[in-house]
Amino acid sequence: MTVWIFAEEFDGSPSGGSLELLAKARSLGDVSVFYVGSGSDDAFGTFGEHGATRVYHLDPGDSLPSAGAAAALADLLGSEGGEAILFGPGNTDRDVAGRLGARLVKPVVAGALDIDTSDGVLVTSEILGGTKSVKTVVTNGSPAIVITRPKAFTAEGVGGGTPEVITVAMPDTGRSAATITERHVEASEGPDLESASIVVSGGRGLGSAEKFEMVKELAGLLGGAVGGTRAVVDAGWVPYSYQIGQTGRTVKPSVYIACAISGAMQHVVGMKGSSTIIAINKDPDAPIFAMADLGIVGDVHKVVPQLIEALKERST
Ligand SMILES: Cc1cc2nc3c(=O)[nH]c(=O)nc-3n(C[C@H](O)[C@H](O)[C@H](O)COP(=O)(O)OP(=O)(O)OC[C@H]3O[C@@H](n4cnc5c(N)ncnc54)[C@H](O)[C@@H]3O)c2cc1C
Repeated sequence: MTVWIFAEEFDGSPSGGSLELLAKARSLGDVSVFYVGSGSDDAFGTFGEHGATRVYHLDPGDSLPSAGAAAALADLLGSEGGEAILFGPGNTDRDVAGRLGARLVKPVVAGALDIDTSDGVLVTSEILGGTKSVKTVVTNGSPAIVITRPKAFTAEGVGGGTPEVITVAMPDTGRSAATITERHVEASEGPDLESASIVVSGGRGLGSAEKFEMVKELAGLLGGAVGGTRAVVDAGWVPYSYQIGQTGRTVKPSVYIACAISGAMQHVVGMKGSSTIIAINKDPDAPIFAMADLGIVGDVHKVVPQLIEALKERST
């Protein structure tokens, strides 16, 4: 069985999500990587280190890559074959997956948490904000086009050698190409939210942007990243890049500390994979306590400053 993965470049390297897909694809069979980016020996070496033996490389230059990538992939899948192609949850992934589905007249199965290929392609996915699990068998021929959930798999290096790299030309899709003229990366402090082992998040119960600062201070003292709910993003206390949940980011840290967060389903879906969840909330009936490993019923404005003091004392 050949399983393809769609991989995008981020800051000159394969994105973390592509390496997660690669780990899963490797467990299913022979892997072909379709890599979109400028490419470099280091980037190809990273794929090799993660077990890839074959990388198809498309350099889109300054063009918006989706239309060309989908056309090139459709040709490659036609000539090389493949039972499944896995995409991550990113914007380009979804764009290319949809276009590929239209070109091949195949459905796209989204929200995948697992893929089993022991008897055809069986995809387990989540719907309705992660409250229902669905199993889908793809029956209309290869390839099955699958979009995975964030952090569904764990990237793992296996120490492989340099893969074979096959250069793919950017196809002329016959449409006027859109060009990327500028890239904006939102500034953030501390460790990256999605890879941090400790995440401290704040919710509306903090009361104001000024009070949210204590969440940042606690995260700083713990060497963790800062997150928030949609309520605090909508209030303008923190930028959207901090939002955790259904319409934000998905985190899976060792420790997640929820400060004055109610535990709405749309938030929980983005943090429920955390190993240990600690909740601070003044309402003993707040839904967050149903999933917390450790709950502190109390006023966040009293509990968090005490935690900060205790951590400062410990470090002196
Ligand atoms: C389509 C859709 C998508 C959404 N996507 C997301 C998403 O990606 N992420 C997300 O987070 N939300 C999302 N939401 C919003 C979600 O439904 C909730 O409204 C939101 O998560 C609530 O945020 P919160 O917990 O900060 O606020 P609230 O629900 O208002 O909770 C505040 C909590 O603070 C507690 N509190 C108040 N004062 C104190 C105090 N002094 N000390 C201690 N505790 C206190 C309260 O008891 C309460 O439990 C989405 C909603 C929709 C409809």
